[in-house]
Amino acid sequence: MVIGVLCLQGAFYEHRKMFNSLGISTVELRKASDLDKPFDGLVIPGGESTVMGKLLNELGMAERLKGMIQGGLPVYGTCAGLILLAKKITNDSRKGLATMDISAERNAYGRQLGSFATDTRFKGIGTIPAVFIRAPYITEVWGDTEVLAEADGKIVAARENNQLVTAFHPELTDDLRIHEYFINMVKHHT
Ligand code: GLN
Repeated sequence: MVIGVLCLQGAFYEHRKMFNSLGISTVELRKASDLDKPFDGLVIPGGESTVMGKLLNELGMAERLKGMIQGGLPVYGTCAGLILLAKKITNDSRKGLATMDISAERNAYGRQLGSFATDTRFKGIGTIPAVFIRAPYITEVWGDTEVLAEADGKIVAARENNQLVTAFHPELTDDLRIHEYFINMVKHHT
C-alpha cells in the first residue's frame, strides 16, 4: 500500500511521518505528473485552503484529483483538507475539490480560540487528543455522510464512504489511531 500525500503547502511532512511510523510508504504529490505514480489513498494536509486550492488549479491537479476521489479513491482531509473537500463553505465563495456532502465554516473558532487542544470521542476509536489550529468546523452533513466526532457541540470529524475529514490535526500528536483508521479504509477499498 502506498499513500499519496499532497505536498503543495502545509503540514504534509508530519503526515508522512505518521504513515512511516505505521510501516506504510508514502509518495509526494507536488505536480500533475506525480498523479501518474501509483497510490492507493490520498491525504490532503492542513495548511491554508485558499493557497492549496489555487495551487491545485494552477498546477492542473484539481480536476484529476476530483475525478479520482469521485471514482472511489480513499481520501483523508485534515483541516484545510476538510475545507477543500467540502461541497459548501458557509463563509467563503471559493470552492476546492467539492466532493463531500458537508458544509464547513472556515476559521470557525475565531481569534481568541484560534488554536487549542482538547480530547474528543471518535466513533469506533474512543477518546483521542485533538489539536485545532484556526480550524473549521462542519456546520451540516447530508447524504451518506456520517458524523464521527464532535467537540464543544460542533462536528469536527465525518466520513462519507471513501472520504474522511477531521477539523483537527492527529499528525501533530503521537496518536496514530486516526491514520490507522484511514489505512483500514484503504485496505477495504483495495
Ligand atoms: N484556516 C485554514 C484555512 O482556512 C485552515 C487551518 C489549518 O489547516 N490548520 O484554510
